[in-house]
Amino acid sequence: AKGEGRNIYKVYVEFMDEQNYHSFLLERDLRKAIANEEFVAYFQPRVDGRTGRITGAEALIRWMHPSLGLVSPGEFIPLAEETGLIIPLGKWMKKKVCEQLVIWRESGFPLLPISVNISSQRFLQKEFAEDVKELLTQFQLDGKWLELEITENSLMRNEEYVLQTLHELKEMGIKIFIDDFGTGYSSFHYLKKFRLDGIKIDRSFVQNISCESDNAGITVAMIQMAHHLRMDVIAEGVETEEELAFLLDQNCHYVQGFYFGKPCSIEEFEEKFMKKIIA
Ligand code: C2E
Ligand code: CA
Ligand code: CA
Ligand code: CA
Repeated sequence: AKGEGRNIYKVYVEFMDEQNYHSFLLERDLRKAIANEEFVAYFQPRVDGRTGRITGAEALIRWMHPSLGLVSPGEFIPLAEETGLIIPLGKWMKKKVCEQLVIWRESGFPLLPISVNISSQRFLQKEFAEDVKELLTQFQLDGKWLELEITENSLMRNEEYVLQTLHELKEMGIKIFIDDFGTGYSSFHYLKKFRLDGIKIDRSFVQNISCESDNAGITVAMIQMAHHLRMDVIAEGVETEEELAFLLDQNCHYVQGFYFGKPCSIEEFEEKFMKKIIA
């Protein structure tokens, strides 16, 4: 009958707790946001800690919600993964990064490798490598400018598929890093089986590394293991001079964190970090 729909809706809404209601609204808005292109790519510099020279950047997504303002990825990425919206989001981000690289190339900026976070959902879905190849071809980009950060759980499924995909990406010259290293169900087996280019040590291990002996021990072991396997190591979440000094002392030279720069808009990134390379 008339009005019934509204009543059902109301009951439904009352039934949900506040947290669920919030994600219900976010999900509705997230669908619209993709159509309306409410996303922005922020870049955070990656630096050689010995010299302070920039070696690349990580692209991190931001959502400019029309009424809520900036929504952090910690809030909407899990939702995007649950709802499958992570697929169009990831596609948007990869394209955005390629477009930016082309803009830089055409305006005479020296190029920097930019890394993109890849959800395991997308990585494990068919034709991931083919899609990336198409993108590089479309933008006439060398694979060395696009780096991928995948998580440990991307490696734990269909071994054949993973090997094949990693092989195809390598052929394109794309470097692959294991993100949030140490936080997932990593196994040494995967490091041996898959020849990856590097690991990113998660922020939770880097925090207070100089005075927290558990973190120090774990991080030192990760750095040494990676170097033995001839992999690069990037420490994320470096906030203080003490943390940097500790990492450099352990021969972990590549670092990323608020100490060097927070993720910022591309305009700000050019202003703060790229003009320095040209100068
Ligand atoms: P992540 O890949 O581990 O990215 C690093 C996060 O640490 C970023 O948070 C960054 O802003 C933050 N961070 C960097 N340096 C520091 C530091 O010195 N101190 C502190 N406190 N934080 C630091 P953000 O941008 O909020 O992103 C959170 C997570 O959301 C990312 O973690 C990543 O897993 C996911 N994410 C972000 N953008 C994308 C994307 O485009 N695609 C996918 N699939 N995931 C994304
Ligand atoms: Ca990352
Ligand atoms: Ca992390
Ligand atoms: Ca991550």
